[in-house]
Amino acid sequence: MRVDLHPVRAFLEARHEGLLDRAQAFSRDVLSKRKPPETDEEARTEARALLTLMGDASLFEPIQRQDYRGCCLLREELAFHSPLADAVFALQALSATPLFLRGTPLQTALATEAIAGAQMGAFAMTEPGAGSDAHAIACEARREGESYVLNGTKTLISNGGLADFYVVFAKAVKARPKGLTAFIVEAGSAGFEFVKPLVMSAPHPLGEIAFRDCRVSEGARIGKEGEGLKLALSTLDRLRATVGAAACGMAARALSEALQHAQTRRQFGKPLADLPLIQDKIARMAIRLRAARLLVYEAAWEKDQGAGRVTLESGMAKAFATENAQTIVDDAVQILGGRGVMKESMVDLLYRSVRALRIYEGTTEIQHLLVASQLLKPAP
Ligand SMILES: Cc1cc2nc3c(=O)[nH]c(=O)nc-3n(C[C@H](O)[C@H](O)[C@H](O)COP(=O)(O)OP(=O)(O)OC[C@H]3O[C@@H](n4cnc5c(N)ncnc54)[C@H](O)[C@@H]3O)c2cc1C
Repeated sequence: MRVDLHPVRAFLEARHEGLLDRAQAFSRDVLSKRKPPETDEEARTEARALLTLMGDASLFEPIQRQDYRGCCLLREELAFHSPLADAVFALQALSATPLFLRGTPLQTALATEAIAGAQMGAFAMTEPGAGSDAHAIACEARREGESYVLNGTKTLISNGGLADFYVVFAKAVKARPKGLTAFIVEAGSAGFEFVKPLVMSAPHPLGEIAFRDCRVSEGARIGKEGEGLKLALSTLDRLRATVGAAACGMAARALSEALQHAQTRRQFGKPLADLPLIQDKIARMAIRLRAARLLVYEAAWEKDQGAGRVTLESGMAKAFATENAQTIVDDAVQILGGRGVMKESMVDLLYRSVRALRIYEGTTEIQHLLVASQLLKPAP
């Protein structure tokens, strides 16, 4: 079962069918022929290769058009076949979006190169002392004449050590005490350091980076001083539903693997699919997936209609879709039995890949806080 448009068609436009055709052709002709990498080094090489292939296939275009339903369709399709390809898409979106939102013409040109797959981006917020609490960011940007000097460490950064440019959130010392400012730092800059790779159980290039008296020009600042947190939150608000879409892609693949296995594997003289307990599991998986998709595409639709912030909708979509995808993938592993925990099995890769979605771009707990704060907001 590929991305089945039926439950979400009401939220889509005609152009999305063409986009999905393009993404499905890419899955068929490219992704299905590539093996998931086994080591971190292989994952890094594969991520770079996928970036070029995806750029050549114009798959990043919905990011530039700020078509969030398009981004959701792509992430769902990519995640179905390759969680790593989905991560490559996600990071191009996270790094290019702030530049399209607030960038100078030069910065927008860099984002356009990222859309073409010619530049790999990264989004650097998290620090050893600042995860869920962005206000605790300690990385400093000291103004010196026409430039800024950055000092600090960023950890758990996707594409860390691999990206060509980093969108970095730092405290510009003169700005409001809690205000952050966003900068572009190129990987080759003096004072930029790739500290170490952080190796996940699923293929996903992740690393720690540091800035040691790393000087960037004023032209590297994105937007105004002190407006970095607003820019980061606005970027995350726009893209949060797409994390839910990636979760749906992984869940759809898990369901598809489980359906296939249940219909072919025989125990007690009949296919597993004939056993009521297996049928119950399958039904629950499908219901969870359908509900998740509806929340995800509704949130993206709201944003595409020109809504300002979609914090409530995207927070609900991300929390529900990622939590339920975890359950769906776990159920698929259970249906596959011992074969489901073998390293070469697709459901094992999904099991290792889906976990991080409940953590990055705001944990489930943080989404729940955001949803509750929207509901408890005093009436205007
Ligand atoms: C695969 C992966 C990729 C990532 N990529 C990036 C990236 O590209 N760029 C980037 O900047 N960051 C990235 N991150 C970091 C990610 O955004 C953080 O891990 C996340 O924000 C949580 O921060 P933390 O890990 O420090 O956990 P903490 O903030 O320490 O939280 C630990 C636990 O406490 C809970 N908690 C925290 N505060 C509260 C609260 N107020 N109420 C209730 N519970 C709370 C959390 O929900 C969590 O369960 C990535 C992480 C992963 C796993």
